[in-house]
Amino acid sequence: MIRENYLGVDVCRIDMKDALDEVDRIISNRKPSFVVAINPEKIMKAQKDESLRNLLNSASMQIPDGVGVVIASRFKGGKIRSRVTGIELMENICKVSAKKGYRVFLLGAKPGVAEGASDILKKRYPGLNIVGTRDGYFKDEDEVIENIKASSPDVLFVAMGSPKQEYWITKNMDKLGVPLCMGVGGSYDVICGNIKRAPKWMCSIGLEWLYRLIKEPWRYKRMAVLPVFLLKVLFGVKRK
Ligand code: UDP
Repeated sequence: MIRENYLGVDVCRIDMKDALDEVDRIISNRKPSFVVAINPEKIMKAQKDESLRNLLNSASMQIPDGVGVVIASRFKGGKIRSRVTGIELMENICKVSAKKGYRVFLLGAKPGVAEGASDILKKRYPGLNIVGTRDGYFKDEDEVIENIKASSPDVLFVAMGSPKQEYWITKNMDKLGVPLCMGVGGSYDVICGNIKRAPKWMCSIGLEWLYRLIKEPWRYKRMAVLPVFLLKVLFGVKRK
Protein backbone atom coordinates (compact mmCIF):
# COMPACT_ATOMS: atom_id res chain seq x y z
CA MET A 1 0.00 0.00 0.00
CA ILE A 2 1.39 3.41 -0.97
CA ARG A 3 1.59 5.89 1.89
CA GLU A 4 2.00 9.66 1.94
CA ASN A 5 3.51 11.30 5.00
CA TYR A 6 2.33 14.55 6.57
CA LEU A 7 4.35 16.00 9.46
CA GLY A 8 5.71 12.58 10.29
CA VAL A 9 2.43 10.68 10.12
CA ASP A 10 1.64 8.13 7.39
CA VAL A 11 -1.62 8.19 5.46
CA CYS A 12 -2.53 5.51 2.90
CA ARG A 13 -3.25 6.57 -0.66
CA ILE A 14 -6.52 4.67 -0.88
CA ASP A 15 -10.18 5.02 -1.70
CA MET A 16 -13.05 3.10 -0.08
CA LYS A 17 -12.66 0.10 -2.39
CA ASP A 18 -8.95 -0.22 -1.62
CA ALA A 19 -9.72 0.06 2.11
CA LEU A 20 -12.30 -2.74 1.92
CA ASP A 21 -9.93 -4.96 -0.06
CA GLU A 22 -7.33 -4.45 2.65
CA VAL A 23 -9.90 -5.28 5.33
CA ASP A 24 -10.59 -8.61 3.59
CA ARG A 25 -6.88 -9.30 3.36
CA ILE A 26 -6.33 -8.51 7.06
CA ILE A 27 -9.22 -10.73 8.14
CA SER A 28 -8.12 -13.70 6.03
CA ASN A 29 -4.57 -13.27 7.35
CA ARG A 30 -5.84 -13.72 10.97
CA LYS A 31 -2.91 -11.76 12.46
CA PRO A 32 -4.11 -9.15 15.02
CA SER A 33 -3.96 -5.79 13.22
CA PHE A 34 -5.47 -2.35 13.57
CA VAL A 35 -6.77 0.35 11.30
CA VAL A 36 -6.61 4.01 12.27
CA ALA A 37 -8.42 7.06 10.93
CA ILE A 38 -6.06 9.98 10.34
CA ASN A 39 -7.14 13.61 10.58
CA PRO A 40 -5.25 16.86 11.28
CA GLU A 41 -6.19 16.70 14.96
CA LYS A 42 -4.40 13.38 15.40
CA ILE A 43 -1.42 14.51 13.32
CA MET A 44 -1.06 17.65 15.45
CA LYS A 45 -1.35 15.65 18.68
CA ALA A 46 1.37 13.37 17.35
CA GLN A 47 3.73 16.33 16.85
CA LYS A 48 4.30 16.59 20.57
CA ASP A 49 4.00 12.92 21.27
CA GLU A 50 6.47 10.58 19.65
CA SER A 51 4.88 7.44 21.06
CA LEU A 52 1.55 8.44 19.51
CA ARG A 53 3.30 9.09 16.20
CA ASN A 54 4.91 5.65 16.27
CA LEU A 55 1.61 4.08 17.22
CA LEU A 56 -0.24 5.73 14.29
CA ASN A 57 2.51 4.68 11.89
CA SER A 58 2.42 1.09 13.13
CA ALA A 59 -1.19 0.56 12.00
CA SER A 60 -1.84 -1.83 9.10
CA MET A 61 -3.82 0.90 7.39
CA GLN A 62 -4.10 4.65 8.01
CA ILE A 63 -7.26 5.91 6.33
CA PRO A 64 -7.50 9.55 5.11
CA ASP A 65 -10.38 10.49 7.43
CA GLY A 66 -10.09 14.30 7.61
CA VAL A 67 -10.59 16.81 4.81
CA GLY A 68 -7.37 18.51 5.97
CA VAL A 69 -5.40 15.45 4.87
CA VAL A 70 -6.94 15.63 1.37
CA ILE A 71 -6.13 19.36 1.12
CA ALA A 72 -2.57 18.73 2.34
CA SER A 73 -2.14 16.02 -0.28
CA ARG A 74 -3.29 18.37 -3.07
CA PHE A 75 -0.95 21.15 -1.91
CA LYS A 76 2.05 18.86 -1.60
CA GLY A 77 1.65 17.03 -4.90
CA GLY A 78 0.23 13.88 -3.32
CA LYS A 79 -2.53 11.78 -4.82
CA ILE A 80 -5.09 11.41 -2.02
CA ARG A 81 -8.23 12.83 -3.60
CA SER A 82 -11.06 11.77 -1.35
CA ARG A 83 -11.72 11.04 2.27
CA VAL A 84 -12.31 7.54 3.59
CA THR A 85 -14.10 8.44 6.81
CA GLY A 86 -14.02 6.18 9.82
CA ILE A 87 -17.79 5.98 10.09
CA GLU A 88 -18.30 5.20 6.39
CA LEU A 89 -15.63 2.52 6.51
CA MET A 90 -17.25 1.06 9.63
CA GLU A 91 -20.67 0.93 7.91
CA ASN A 92 -19.12 -0.66 4.82
CA ILE A 93 -17.29 -3.24 6.93
CA CYS A 94 -20.65 -4.11 8.52
CA LYS A 95 -22.21 -4.44 5.06
CA VAL A 96 -19.40 -6.75 3.89
CA SER A 97 -19.53 -8.68 7.19
CA ALA A 98 -23.24 -9.39 6.66
CA LYS A 99 -22.41 -10.90 3.26
CA LYS A 100 -19.27 -12.78 4.23
CA GLY A 101 -20.23 -13.86 7.74
CA TYR A 102 -17.54 -11.90 9.62
CA ARG A 103 -18.28 -11.76 13.33
CA VAL A 104 -18.40 -8.21 14.73
CA PHE A 105 -18.02 -6.91 18.31
CA LEU A 106 -18.91 -3.34 19.34
CA LEU A 107 -16.96 -1.97 22.31
CA GLY A 108 -17.27 1.58 23.65
CA ALA A 109 -19.57 4.58 24.21
CA LYS A 110 -21.98 5.11 27.12
CA PRO A 111 -24.00 2.18 28.49
CA GLY A 112 -26.76 1.22 26.05
CA VAL A 113 -25.31 3.03 23.04
CA ALA A 114 -23.40 0.05 21.57
CA GLU A 115 -26.53 -2.13 21.96
CA GLY A 116 -28.61 0.55 20.24
CA ALA A 117 -26.09 0.82 17.41
CA SER A 118 -26.05 -2.99 17.14
CA ASP A 119 -29.85 -3.15 16.71
CA ILE A 120 -29.77 -0.47 14.03
CA LEU A 121 -26.85 -2.04 12.15
CA LYS A 122 -28.49 -5.47 12.19
CA LYS A 123 -31.64 -3.97 10.66
CA ARG A 124 -29.63 -2.03 8.11
CA TYR A 125 -27.48 -5.03 7.09
CA PRO A 126 -29.63 -8.16 7.39
CA GLY A 127 -27.59 -11.20 8.36
CA LEU A 128 -24.97 -9.12 10.20
CA ASN A 129 -23.63 -11.18 13.09
CA ILE A 130 -22.87 -8.88 16.03
CA VAL A 131 -21.46 -11.28 18.58
CA GLY A 132 -21.21 -8.86 21.49
CA THR A 133 -21.45 -5.29 22.74
CA ARG A 134 -19.93 -3.57 25.75
CA ASP A 135 -19.84 0.06 26.93
CA GLY A 136 -16.56 1.95 27.13
CA TYR A 137 -16.66 2.89 30.83
CA PHE A 138 -15.55 -0.40 32.40
CA LYS A 139 -13.26 -0.84 35.39
CA ASP A 140 -12.29 -4.47 34.97
CA GLU A 141 -10.26 -4.58 31.76
CA ASP A 142 -9.42 -8.28 32.06
CA GLU A 143 -13.08 -9.17 32.23
CA VAL A 144 -13.79 -7.16 29.06
CA ILE A 145 -10.90 -8.86 27.29
CA GLU A 146 -12.17 -12.30 28.30
CA ASN A 147 -15.66 -11.33 27.19
CA ILE A 148 -14.40 -10.31 23.74
CA LYS A 149 -12.16 -13.37 23.39
CA ALA A 150 -15.05 -15.67 24.28
CA SER A 151 -17.11 -14.27 21.40
CA SER A 152 -14.19 -14.70 18.94
CA PRO A 153 -14.97 -11.79 16.63
CA ASP A 154 -13.23 -11.16 13.31
CA VAL A 155 -13.79 -7.41 13.68
CA LEU A 156 -13.62 -5.33 16.85
CA PHE A 157 -14.79 -1.71 16.71
CA VAL A 158 -13.65 0.43 19.64
CA ALA A 159 -15.46 3.72 20.30
CA MET A 160 -13.66 5.35 23.23
CA GLY A 161 -12.41 8.61 21.70
CA SER A 162 -8.99 9.29 20.31
CA PRO A 163 -6.22 8.53 21.10
CA LYS A 164 -7.53 6.51 24.08
CA GLN A 165 -9.09 3.89 21.80
CA GLU A 166 -5.88 3.51 19.77
CA TYR A 167 -3.80 3.04 22.92
CA TRP A 168 -6.32 0.52 24.22
CA ILE A 169 -6.25 -1.43 20.97
CA THR A 170 -2.45 -1.59 20.65
CA LYS A 171 -2.03 -2.53 24.30
CA ASN A 172 -4.51 -5.41 24.08
CA MET A 173 -4.74 -6.60 20.49
CA ASP A 174 -2.34 -9.53 20.81
CA LYS A 175 -4.18 -10.76 23.89
CA LEU A 176 -7.52 -10.34 22.12
CA GLY A 177 -6.41 -12.19 19.00
CA VAL A 178 -8.93 -10.30 16.85
CA PRO A 179 -7.73 -9.93 13.24
CA LEU A 180 -9.18 -6.46 12.62
CA CYS A 181 -9.44 -3.80 15.34
CA MET A 182 -10.51 -0.28 14.50
CA GLY A 183 -11.10 2.85 16.61
CA VAL A 184 -14.33 4.57 15.57
CA GLY A 185 -14.67 7.55 17.98
CA GLY A 186 -18.24 8.81 18.26
CA SER A 187 -19.62 6.56 15.48
CA TYR A 188 -22.09 4.61 17.65
CA ASP A 189 -23.57 7.91 18.86
CA VAL A 190 -24.00 8.95 15.22
CA ILE A 191 -25.56 5.59 14.25
CA CYS A 192 -28.00 5.87 17.18
CA GLY A 193 -28.89 9.43 16.18
CA ASN A 194 -27.54 10.95 19.44
CA ILE A 195 -25.21 13.02 17.26
CA LYS A 196 -26.17 14.07 13.74
CA ARG A 197 -23.67 14.02 10.89
CA ALA A 198 -23.54 16.97 8.52
CA PRO A 199 -25.81 16.82 5.46
CA LYS A 200 -24.25 15.02 2.47
CA TRP A 201 -23.77 18.24 0.47
CA MET A 202 -21.72 19.77 3.30
CA CYS A 203 -19.55 16.63 3.56
CA SER A 204 -19.03 16.58 -0.20
CA ILE A 205 -17.63 20.12 -0.28
CA GLY A 206 -15.42 19.48 2.71
CA LEU A 207 -17.43 21.45 5.27
CA GLU A 208 -18.30 18.71 7.75
CA TRP A 209 -16.02 20.44 10.28
CA LEU A 210 -18.11 23.66 10.01
CA TYR A 211 -21.31 21.74 10.73
CA ARG A 212 -19.72 20.11 13.79
CA LEU A 213 -18.45 23.50 14.94
CA ILE A 214 -21.96 24.95 14.80
CA LYS A 215 -23.53 21.89 16.50
CA GLU A 216 -20.79 21.31 19.08
CA PRO A 217 -19.14 24.73 19.57
CA TRP A 218 -17.21 23.48 22.62
CA ARG A 219 -15.09 21.50 20.18
CA TYR A 220 -13.68 24.71 18.65
CA LYS A 221 -10.31 24.22 20.32
CA ARG A 222 -9.94 20.77 18.79
CA MET A 223 -10.88 22.13 15.37
CA ALA A 224 -8.61 25.14 15.51
CA VAL A 225 -5.78 22.77 14.66
CA LEU A 226 -6.91 22.50 11.01
CA PRO A 227 -5.50 25.86 9.82
CA VAL A 228 -2.36 25.38 11.92
CA PHE A 229 -1.87 21.94 10.39
CA LEU A 230 -2.26 23.31 6.84
CA LEU A 231 0.17 26.17 7.50
CA LYS A 232 2.72 23.74 8.86
CA VAL A 233 2.35 21.41 5.89
CA LEU A 234 2.45 24.28 3.37
CA PHE A 235 5.29 26.31 4.76
CA GLY A 236 7.24 23.41 6.14
CA VAL A 237 7.43 24.73 9.67
CA LYS A 238 9.68 22.25 11.46
CA ARG A 239 8.41 20.04 14.25
CA LYS A 240 9.64 21.30 17.62
N1 UDP B 1 -15.93 7.08 25.43
C1 UDP B 1 -15.86 5.83 26.06
N2 UDP B 1 -15.04 5.68 27.13
C2 UDP B 1 -14.27 6.70 27.61
C3 UDP B 1 -14.32 7.96 26.95
C4 UDP B 1 -15.16 8.11 25.86
O1 UDP B 1 -16.54 4.89 25.66
O2 UDP B 1 -13.55 6.49 28.59
C5 UDP B 1 -16.85 7.24 24.28
C6 UDP B 1 -17.85 8.36 24.35
O3 UDP B 1 -19.00 7.94 25.09
C7 UDP B 1 -18.13 8.60 22.88
C8 UDP B 1 -16.80 8.30 22.22
O4 UDP B 1 -16.05 7.56 23.17
O5 UDP B 1 -19.11 7.70 22.42
C9 UDP B 1 -15.95 9.53 21.89
O6 UDP B 1 -16.49 10.20 20.86
P1 UDP B 1 -15.75 11.45 20.19
O7 UDP B 1 -16.68 11.99 19.17
O8 UDP B 1 -15.23 12.38 21.23
O9 UDP B 1 -14.53 10.72 19.46
P2 UDP B 1 -13.28 11.38 18.77
O10 UDP B 1 -13.75 12.64 18.10
O11 UDP B 1 -12.27 11.61 19.85
O12 UDP B 1 -12.81 10.32 17.80
